[in-house]
Amino acid sequence: MATAGKVIKCKAAVAWEAGKPLSIEEVEVAPPQAMEVRVKILFTALCHTDVYFWEAKTPVFPRIFGHEAGGIVESVGEGVTELAPGDHVLPVFTGECKECPHCKSAESNMCDLLRINTDRGVMLSDGKSRFSIDGKPIYHFVGTSTFSEYTVLHVGCVAKINPEAPLDKVCVLSCGISTGLGASINVAKPPKGSTVAIFGLGAVGLAAAEGARIAGASRIIGIDLNANRFEEARKFGCTEFVNPKDHNKPVQEVLIEMTNGGVDRSVECTGNINAMIQAFECVHDGWGVAVLVGVPHKDAEFKTHPMNFLNERTLKGTFFGNFKPRTDLPNVVEMYMKKELEVEKFITHSVPFSEINKAFDLMAKGEGIRCIIRMEN
Ligand code: NAD
Ligand code: ZN
Repeated sequence: MATAGKVIKCKAAVAWEAGKPLSIEEVEVAPPQAMEVRVKILFTALCHTDVYFWEAKTPVFPRIFGHEAGGIVESVGEGVTELAPGDHVLPVFTGECKECPHCKSAESNMCDLLRINTDRGVMLSDGKSRFSIDGKPIYHFVGTSTFSEYTVLHVGCVAKINPEAPLDKVCVLSCGISTGLGASINVAKPPKGSTVAIFGLGAVGLAAAEGARIAGASRIIGIDLNANRFEEARKFGCTEFVNPKDHNKPVQEVLIEMTNGGVDRSVECTGNINAMIQAFECVHDGWGVAVLVGVPHKDAEFKTHPMNFLNERTLKGTFFGNFKPRTDLPNVVEMYMKKELEVEKFITHSVPFSEINKAFDLMAKGEGIRCIIRMEN
């Protein structure tokens, strides 16, 4: 590539301060350093985690958000042997170094080196940002910063996928859909014929419902405060719905009554602390398992009576559905290629990069599931 080793000037959507609309700016993107790759982003999508950190008053601004995306490797830094220019890739907000105890464990995906860090706005190797405007740094977000035509990532946060896979579709597998799917099939593991409650029917929750269906659950109860979600959720395997607003008793009690003692599994995909507690307290004693997926408010505290644990309920949590980004994500893409997993139904909107703020408006209004942002047209 003619651009390898050089600074690239390109467009990026910069968040100058918390909660203010992003502004498209020309940024300079430095070449990748050792164990880094520079990727040309073709499609990106907005996930709730971006919105949360964009709204939150963290000290890390100006910043380039975005972590759900698909692109093509433009150039690689020193020591990168597994990726080459032209490879089709999905960036991931958590990583897999392949060397640490977590990466070597069959159970964990919490890589010591590259696990999600929402406070870090710089690259690991030298503590610097690869983005700048007039020499002033613009910070990274979760090691991905995909709201830019070019971005630099650690090689461990990049999954190489089948080049035949359409990037405008499989880009949504780089975060939300894989997270929900994995939370069900890898972590909750509902037995065949079981009953599963899904709290929050956004992209992550709908993917969790889809995962529960793939695993063979027969009753899938969707819980959301937004009743507009219910009709759509039928396409993702939900068989029943509960809107906590329709009841004057706690939703866990409603669910326990509906299921004669509690659900077998629950997956929380809201980020709301009350929903997390409800998701735990609605599982059946003796065997029930609740899985937390939503990213809570930083001051949130989980409170429940310890007796709920003694009564043999299990509480778990997961990032990225327990998938190892480099090892497992290419196989999730293959599930799509083999038509075992549909992703089209998650993609309800699409806007050109110049209209990226519309994706934020749609999420604020709770409209649609995923909005794809097209970088090129
Ligand atoms: P979304 O906003 O599209 O969906 C969230 C849904 O939850 C909405 O429909 C909303 O109405 C509903 N909701 C909110 N509070 C509720 C409550 N108290 N009870 C019932 N329903 C409620 O968001 P998303 O993109 O699907 O993401 C869902 C959550 O997952 C977010 O917190 C996000 O940050 C998190 N997330 C976690 C991971 C991970 O690896 N753990 C990865 C991606 C996203
Ligand atoms: Zn690791």
